[in-house]
Amino acid sequence: MLTYIEPLYRPPSEAGSLILQVTIGCSYNRCSFCSMYRGKRYEERSWDEIRAEIDYASQEYPNTRRVFLADGDALNIKTEYMLNILNHLYRSFPKLERVSCYAMPKNLLQKSKEELVALRDAGLKLLYIGIESGSDTVLRKVTKGATSKGIIDGSLKAKSAGIQLSCMLILGLGGRRYSREHALESARVASMIAPEYLAALTLLLDDVVRDEFMSKFGEPFEPLSDIEVLDELKMLVEHIEPSSNSKIIFRANHASNPYPIKAVLPDDRADVVALIDDLKSRSHMLRPSHLRRF
Ligand code: SF4
Repeated sequence: MLTYIEPLYRPPSEAGSLILQVTIGCSYNRCSFCSMYRGKRYEERSWDEIRAEIDYASQEYPNTRRVFLADGDALNIKTEYMLNILNHLYRSFPKLERVSCYAMPKNLLQKSKEELVALRDAGLKLLYIGIESGSDTVLRKVTKGATSKGIIDGSLKAKSAGIQLSCMLILGLGGRRYSREHALESARVASMIAPEYLAALTLLLDDVVRDEFMSKFGEPFEPLSDIEVLDELKMLVEHIEPSSNSKIIFRANHASNPYPIKAVLPDDRADVVALIDDLKSRSHMLRPSHLRRF
């Protein structure tokens, strides 16, 4: 049977996927805003466990087309081990079309381009990367353990290996003081990476990490109001210019956002900006804060 060590997280777009937990927790686990894996110690599951779960799932769910590998940064697994997992998955599920997982920039930097190509060829087709911010100041203050250069280098290496990217940013992460820098630098990094998908979430601090977040921030953190979040989102959207004339499927429709927005950038930029301006004058349209979750 499939054994999950809770809590279990997956991106919204993997709602219909088979979730296979190949690692437990996050190998880093120190981003000050993130409470997802605080109760777990990072470990990799054994080949015997993973193979048994794949064999079981292939009998129970033989029509599986998509698999998401949990937990927080499954790409931390050594390349040879990941290739074994991918090969066994595609052997076991004849209709399998896509395997995806979360990845940290350091996972990508630690692997060579050749390793990433091998993973892509074995069927790892999509990576979810938490950029969070393009601002090195904000990244440092939230102890992301990554720089904008590392995020760009790692992401472009994955793209050049043929792996699709879905990147995430967090609105409000720099608070009021760094809002402008956060928006502009995030737009710069997103433009350079030009991922296939880009999602903007809105910061909501869990009680588990609130004190730690405030203390690591190193100065008083002033959270953004809903209107300021919309201003930040507008600045972000106005400045995203995907490299190589590519298009980005942009989503700010996560349960943490004040209003669900979907667009293709840069094509829909003017419409999104107009919508945001309209929303600012009709705040009753915004999702009430008690209905939002991170
Ligand atoms: S944001 Fe990602 S890398 Fe940071 S602690 Fe959470 S799961 Fe780990």
